[in-house]
Amino acid sequence: MSVLSEMIKNLLSRPVTILYPLEQVPIPVTFRGRVAITDEKCIGCSKCSLVCPAQVITMIDGPREVEFKGKNLARKKRPQVKLYQCIRCGLCERHCPTGAIHLEQVHGGTGTDREVVVT
Ligand code: SF4
Ligand code: SF4
Repeated sequence: MSVLSEMIKNLLSRPVTILYPLEQVPIPVTFRGRVAITDEKCIGCSKCSLVCPAQVITMIDGPREVEFKGKNLARKKRPQVKLYQCIRCGLCERHCPTGAIHLEQVHGGTGTDREVVVT
């Protein structure tokens, strides 16, 4: 196809891009967004920290009581994630026994400060 006919074709067709973020694209169910933690569900077991291949999850002090399987547990630690060093592999989510840590089904989550953490 000649360049001219390609140009005419593109001039007459609709744009293939969208006005993101004003317009959103559908997110597949397997999409791995940024890591988020539901603190009330976390029992402080450290599994997420142990399986993280990028070693970006640190267990920090977080003493309080949490309910797990009908029992009240005294929790000593909670995970802290260095968000921008996370490779979004999903292993933490897969191994968490309570579903407390998960990868959000949202786009975005970019930034310039590599020390940003989520706890
Ligand atoms: S998604 Fe992977 S790299 Fe990111 S915090 Fe979880 S285990 Fe670590
Ligand atoms: S987020 Fe899940 S795997 Fe990590 S410490 Fe809490 S309960 Fe354990």
